[in-house]
Amino acid sequence: THDTHTLRELDHAHYLHPFTDHKALGEKGVRVMVRGEGIYLWDSEGNKVLDGMSGLWCVAIGYGRSTMTKAISEQIDTLPFYNSFFNTTTVPAVNLAHRLSQLAPPGFKHVFFTGSGSEANDTNVRMVRRYWDLLGYPDRHVIISRHNAYHGSTMAGASLGGMSGMHEQGGLPIPGIVHIGQPNYYESGAGMTREEFGVQAASWLEKKILDVGADKVAAFIAEPVQGAGGVVIPPDTYWPEIRRICDKYGILLIADEVITGFGRLGRWFASEPYKPDLITFAKGVTSGYIPLGGVMVSDRVADVLIRQGGEFNHGFTYSGHPVACAAALENLRIIESENLVGRVAGETGAYLKQKFTALADHPLVGVAETSGFVAGLNLVKRKAENVHQQVAFDADLAVGMVCRAHMFNNGVIMRAVGDRMIIAPPLVMTHAQIDEMVGLIRHALDLTLEEVKQ
Ligand code: PLP
Repeated sequence: THDTHTLRELDHAHYLHPFTDHKALGEKGVRVMVRGEGIYLWDSEGNKVLDGMSGLWCVAIGYGRSTMTKAISEQIDTLPFYNSFFNTTTVPAVNLAHRLSQLAPPGFKHVFFTGSGSEANDTNVRMVRRYWDLLGYPDRHVIISRHNAYHGSTMAGASLGGMSGMHEQGGLPIPGIVHIGQPNYYESGAGMTREEFGVQAASWLEKKILDVGADKVAAFIAEPVQGAGGVVIPPDTYWPEIRRICDKYGILLIADEVITGFGRLGRWFASEPYKPDLITFAKGVTSGYIPLGGVMVSDRVADVLIRQGGEFNHGFTYSGHPVACAAALENLRIIESENLVGRVAGETGAYLKQKFTALADHPLVGVAETSGFVAGLNLVKRKAENVHQQVAFDADLAVGMVCRAHMFNNGVIMRAVGDRMIIAPPLVMTHAQIDEMVGLIRHALDLTLEEVKQ
């Protein structure tokens, strides 16, 4: 059936959605998306929306790319599935591994494929523990992560993640995973410059290492810019300090680039300057057309796994899925041939910054900032020059959710994390489309202001 009313009824009757409060959804029901073209989506009632979130941070090249259809369908015709267990491989999987090794930072030659970002982070947990086991340190198993991080929804992924709402459900985190504070200047940086705060936030890692015992810590994992946590952009001083501290104690550094990988922050891998040991990727590797994730493994880790390792008893049916790998190869070709990484690093990223940060003149907006092609703004009750003197709305008012609804109903998808509104638009956006998006956002902010003033 294609009838919206029937689809809503069937959805209500049969479909348990991820991250959805079904009771709160009530009679209103879900919105049924039916088509995508470029940066736009259409729902079953014919409404057109500009997708400011690239789906779930993934559709970098936009919707409806015909060469993707061709690459995917040709691979399905040739070989829709074969695995890479037990000494076999497939053509697209090898070619993708090679291509990724060319795009990865220096010192990375190997990749382990998974079906998703969550599975990739589970792989990280097992891989770093195995690394230390092989080197003769079986006690070195603790992984340090950060509050409010999102690393996926599997048991290990949700444990690495630092969302209290996820930990409360199901008794997480699993043992051996501990958390430190996030480098959120607005929440925790009062009385400091951003630079001072960056150094302080990194020092929480050293403190935690010493609390746990340096000889027990396997790795630290973090997103270059925290995504689902609300586009938390760390001060410039943060990451160099994190690398220095990891080096001081010999701890492996895992960069979760599920959101930031493949150009979103203006580099193929945003973490390149701070030399991670493992890189998690997913989403942008295929622009979400087919599920695929994985871990880029540096020589430091790969050499131990391969030379001393024997078999790593780990893998997924869909590790190196040939259709997903074919989709990734075509997606990466498009990103390269359209210079999307260069556009984000250059003129188009600068244009988005100029237009988006100008929203800070709106009476509701305390802060508006971008990093490459992610951006966030804080909705505040009272503005002030000093961000730490701004007054937040009462959380019960759920102003972010009010704003999100106005955005969606007026033609643009923007996500709410509390009262922080965030976007991660497709990397193919033109300057004219950036103007259109920012105009739609401003209009929805006006409607939000009218509603919350009463
Ligand atoms: N890591 C980060 C930083 C993410 O943003 C996400 C998904 O949003 C994941 C991991 C989990 O990826 P997946 O949903 O593909 O399992």
